[in-house]
Amino acid sequence: MSGQNGSGGGPCGACKFLRRKCVKGCIFAPYFDSDQGTTHFAAVHKVFGASNASKMLLRIPPHKRLDAVVTLCYEALARVRDPVYGCVGHIFTLQQQVWMDHPPPPHPSPMFYYIKL
Ligand SMILES: [Zn+2]
Repeated sequence: MSGQNGSGGGPCGACKFLRRKCVKGCIFAPYFDSDQGTTHFAAVHKVFGASNASKMLLRIPPHKRLDAVVTLCYEALARVRDPVYGCVGHIFTLQQQVWMDHPPPPHPSPMFYYIKL
């Protein structure tokens, strides 16, 4: 995920998708390259909206923005694949796999909490 940031190498993936000029200091440029970044940004735009994603990134300290972008892309791509559950569907699947190997303990009855008091 590295863009040209308006340094003459063409627009970043976000600006390419939005068909706009990629200006110096573009908030998306460091994270969306002009190849795969365009596909990822398309999902982010569809799910969250470019303006909302931009506003959110501006509120996050620069050293934490990469983690936020990775999460945004993950959630957006999952939501495009599964419009109903999004990434929660993936979490359920993983949870079921864990439970097959390590079943959760039975849920205590309400009396358990009553006696603890
Ligand atoms: Zn850009």
